[in-house]
Amino acid sequence: MKRAREMKAKSAVVAKTTEYEFMGPVGAVLMVFGLPVTVYYLYFACQPRSCTVLNLAVIPTDVTSYIDKDATLVVLGWFVFQSALYMLPVGRQAQGLPLKSGKRLTYRINAFFAMIVSFITFGFAVYYKYMSTFLYDKYLHLATAAMIFALMLSVFLYIKAKLGPQSALCDRGNSGYFFYDFFMGHELNPRIGSFDLKFFCELRPGLIGWVLLNFGMVAKVCITEGKPSAGIILVSVFQAWYVIDGLWHEECILTTMDIVHDGFGFMLAFGDLVWVPFTYSLQTRYLVDHPLDLSYISIAAIIAIKLAGYAIFRGSNSQKDCFRRNPHDPKLQHLKSISTDSGSRLLISGWWGMVRHPNYFGDILMSIAWSLPCGFSSVLPWFYPIYFTILLIHREQRDSHQCQKKYGKDWTRYCQIVKYRIFPYIY
Ligand code: NDP
Repeated sequence: MKRAREMKAKSAVVAKTTEYEFMGPVGAVLMVFGLPVTVYYLYFACQPRSCTVLNLAVIPTDVTSYIDKDATLVVLGWFVFQSALYMLPVGRQAQGLPLKSGKRLTYRINAFFAMIVSFITFGFAVYYKYMSTFLYDKYLHLATAAMIFALMLSVFLYIKAKLGPQSALCDRGNSGYFFYDFFMGHELNPRIGSFDLKFFCELRPGLIGWVLLNFGMVAKVCITEGKPSAGIILVSVFQAWYVIDGLWHEECILTTMDIVHDGFGFMLAFGDLVWVPFTYSLQTRYLVDHPLDLSYISIAAIIAIKLAGYAIFRGSNSQKDCFRRNPHDPKLQHLKSISTDSGSRLLISGWWGMVRHPNYFGDILMSIAWSLPCGFSSVLPWFYPIYFTILLIHREQRDSHQCQKKYGKDWTRYCQIVKYRIFPYIY
């Protein structure tokens, strides 16, 4: 009986993608080429002498400016190191939300442990002078190595999906157009044995790598200037805090869109492994060469914005995660919710009664606090909040579309009760 159920689940056919995102196959082609170009653009536009939008005078054309043996080995070693930490039998196991087949996947929760070990290892590397200025000096080489790795991983994922069972595919990346499926992710939860490739890449190599890149920028300043500026310390601490918080709440990721709905392809592989570490560390890289004096009042205001953003971000994410895991949790009994035909309830008070995505609002506030220490003389260190606001507005529309499909008239009712999408009384 059990075997028959498993056979049925394996042969179940995932629906073809008929509704496109990111402007369909053409948009996917543009993204596959445009994302790496943007990473390079930000590097070359923001240089020690000048950091301006049109600063593209010196773009090297020789291969050695991009590829370097040591940087490639560091990137490869980093992935091997993180994989080994992930596989250690440390930390508990958690179950994901039920898949369409009814099955639930099990995940090892030990990213926080991996981060602590990584920080200690990095501390030793800096102490023994292996990493003092390496991350700053070889930034471009490290980014290129990470790009090649992400590309190779995406090709592997696509081939793996093609060779695997139909039932493992993702309905958002199953169009039949190579570039579209390659970009969106053809398979939903690619695994090698119990090693979940998407779950691993989402939080570990890229996020921890981003914090270490920032620390590497601080180490560079300490070597060249003697002591770091308040700005670079603020940004590094804020961003480290964001990552530490994410890894501490690792289990919350199991209910997010990336894990539940998106396939694992170029979009997430490149995003997790290249985009996050190498574009999100732009502010600290900028502050190495363009330090800024901050008054005590500015520092206090920046910290206040960060704290407000964090309270909204963490409060709302934890509230929804807790509600989805157990709607009858005594901690949530003061909150109002509406029932839906699908069986799930939707919160209409607390954080989720203020706007439809309070977590995005908090995240955007924090992103502003990360760029304020860079001042306003260049727009490039503001790339992150600008891009991130656009990303989250687009993400909110994608999510709203999915919720409309899932909840139908109940979602329309919810939207009438909670009128604003992200920004209270504005949008
Ligand atoms: P969310 O955690 O916001 O989840 C959206 C889902 O929540 C919906 O699909 C719906 O799923 C459920 N939901 C919506 N409204 C309600 C409600 N009123 N009551 C209960 N459940 C509701 O999605 P994301 O994965 O986009 O975001 C997670 C976090 O990650 C956010 O804080 C975001 O800012 C952050 N993020 C950060 C990025 C970065 O690069 N730094 C990139 C992307 C996201 P269902 O009803 O099916 O459960």
